[in-house]
Parts: sequence; C-alpha cells; structure tokens
Amino acid sequence: MSAAFDLRAASLPLPARSRASEALALARLGFALVPMMPRSKKPYYDLLPKENGRPSWQPLALRPASDAEILAWFAADPECGIAAIMGKPSGGIVAVDVDHGAEVPPSLILTPTVSGDSSEGSDGRWRGHLFYRAAGAVRKQRHPWGEVLGEGCLVVLPPSIHPNGHPYTWTEGLGPGEVDVAPAPDWIYDGRAGARLPDALNARDRERVQQVPSEARTILFSPHRGSPLDFLMRDPEAALAIMRKCGARVARLGQAFCCPIPGHDERRPSMALYQQPDGAILCHDFHARDGVEWLAVPDVFASVVTGKPQRLTPGERAVWHLRAAAEAKIVQPPTVAAAPLPADAPDSVRAYYQGFLRLLALRALYDGTQTAAPFSWRFAAGWCGIGSPNTVQKAAAWLLARGYLVAVRPDGTEDRGSRSVTMFALGRPRD
Ligand SMILES: [Zn+2]
Repeated sequence: MSAAFDLRAASLPLPARSRASEALALARLGFALVPMMPRSKKPYYDLLPKENGRPSWQPLALRPASDAEILAWFAADPECGIAAIMGKPSGGIVAVDVDHGAEVPPSLILTPTVSGDSSEGSDGRWRGHLFYRAAGAVRKQRHPWGEVLGEGCLVVLPPSIHPNGHPYTWTEGLGPGEVDVAPAPDWIYDGRAGARLPDALNARDRERVQQVPSEARTILFSPHRGSPLDFLMRDPEAALAIMRKCGARVARLGQAFCCPIPGHDERRPSMALYQQPDGAILCHDFHARDGVEWLAVPDVFASVVTGKPQRLTPGERAVWHLRAAAEAKIVQPPTVAAAPLPADAPDSVRAYYQGFLRLLALRALYDGTQTAAPFSWRFAAGWCGIGSPNTVQKAAAWLLARGYLVAVRPDGTEDRGSRSVTMFALGRPRD
C-alpha cells in the first residue's frame, strides 16, 4: 500500500509524515491500532493510555485510537511501529500467520485477501499474514503450518520495522485498498482446522464455481459438443497437463499455483483452475493484473508461448487449444506432407512455413477435408514466434513467389489480386 500523504500529518517531522499517513489510513480501514516500540514486538508503553494508573493497550481495544493520538505517537517517535488488535476491536479482522509455506492449506490461498509479507526464510517460501474478516469469535490456534491470531492478539503491521531491521511490507498487489479483506473460512471458528479442512475446502470450491459470471463463460466458449475442442474444454487432465506445460506446478482443479502469464511475475500462488457447472474449465487469475480475472486455458498457453499476455479470438483460441494439447501430448496431430524448403531459405521463412504446416495439421484434427487455413499477419507473428508482422509479410511473399503457398478465397479458389490476403493453401513449388 502506498498510502496517500495525509494533510493532518503535515506538521510532523519529515520521516514521520508518510508513516503516520499510512497508520491513519489503516485506522480508517477499521484496524484498531496500538503503538509499538521501534524494531520490537512490544507495545510502546510510554505512548499508551493509562488504565488504573498503569500504561495499557486495553483501552485501545474498547475504543479505537483517535487520529490525534496516532499523530502524537509519530510526533513523539518517528520510528514508532504499529500493531492491530485482532477480533472485535478491528471489526472482526483476524490474521492467519503462515510460517511454513510448503504446508499451507490451499483453502487459505484460494481467495485473494489483504496480506503482509514476513521476512522470507532461506528456502524462498512465502511467509506472512493473511487477514480475514470473521463473523464470530475466533480464538488463537496453533496449526502445523502456523497460527490463527484471533480475539485480542496483537499483529504488527507495515510500516513497522521488524527486529531484524527490515520493514514489514504488504504483499504486492494485496495491500489494504488493493483487495478487500476476505470472509474467514468456515473452519476458523471451531479451531479444528485439521479435521474440518477437507469439507471446508470442498464447500469453498463449489461456491466458487457458482460465482463465475455467466458472461465470462459465453464470451470464452461457444462449445461444439462432441468435437475435440469440446473434449479439451471439459477434460480436467487436459487442462492440468497444459498448465504444467506452461510451467505451473499443479496437480488438481482448485489448487492454487503461481500464474505463468509473462509480466505477472507472481511471487505466490495467484491462479487456479475451476470447472464450471457446464463442464468447461477456466483459469481464475486472482490478481487480474491485466484487468481480466477469468481466462481460457489456451489464452494462458498462448501468452506463455508468445511471451506476452494474449486475449484470443474464438477462432484463434480453438487452434491454440489444439496446439497446447498436442504439446502436452493429449492429442496427436497428423503429419502434413509438404515440399521441403531449399537450404538457403531464410530463418523467418522457415519459421513461417513450419507454423503454417503445424496449423494445417492441428486443423485436420477436427476437419480432415480442408486444405486451406486463414493465417492473418498478426496471428502468424505470435504463432510462428516471428514477432514482427512486417517480417511475416516478407516471409509469406517469399513462399508465394516460389509457389510453396498459394493465396485462396474462402471458397478455395486461387486468389491472385487481393491486397489483404490472409487465407493460404499449400502449393506446388516451382523448381
Ligand atoms: Zn497472473
């Protein structure tokens, strides 16, 4: 969270201004704050209100610190840290402290929620706090993977400094104001997470399936039942194999993994596959870095192959899906017989020709009778890994001039005059 500078902090010395602004913003979000000693997990007794003549943070649990009090903390000590009192004082917000990244129950990472990073261990696994809003009392609990910090627990928040000297930070993209505090999982109330977890997880998964907006489904798919595409769309093993081909570590639907879309650079699991009520499988990108939350599996694959986020048209999506399935060894496309290129053919021509042959082979999986295929400059650039549509046009011109390709009209007849040719068939090269 980069808190907007708060004018009321203007009178503070410079180092304290942004820290006080951030604390004021957290108080507005409902966190009941307590001043903490710098680089310490102990309350700042000199700055606490008095109860029966002794400094205590208990009064701050009964009534939240006022803005004036918060400003006074940072005026007294610009390095003052802050903690929040979990549970009722913070509007029901409780924290799940994840200590052992490897063993985290998936139910804790299926839903994006406000999260803070802890210092990472040498194993590189994520550690930190996930905040949830509970509807009832939650007591402190120990689990194999960490702790639930419930009613009355103090949790140190950014911009405090950790005793190790590093500042506490919000997880990138998951700070307050970037995502909402998610509702607490059901099992959190009775403290028997271990025993109840599988049920809670299944319930959560079912609920999430219902949440997929129906527009997203119709935009992404118009399934032709019985076709290879229909099978691919609905087959969990195919979807999982394709995501693993993209580099994801995922073994089952509903399991969160690091989103492989180029440029997203996720540091913690941010994507999961879900099967819709009609059987189609979609990727849920929690962070929606490109503004898109629900993606088709082939769009993710095409993004990884081309090196940039792709939103495919339905026609493009069909062939990218088949290509993904072929590379994941789910389907076996036929070999297309074609004249070999001469040894002196430029690399871009070779890439373009191979890309077109690959397209013909994949299309043969659902229509063995066709001999021509649309191959627009823009599509071919990504599909063949050439990048520049200008180079694509030159490669096509090379192949057309030598007869390796012929331009055709949609009805299959040869097209010699059109300037916007995008449909090609294999030709008979002149020797
Ligand atoms: Zn992503």
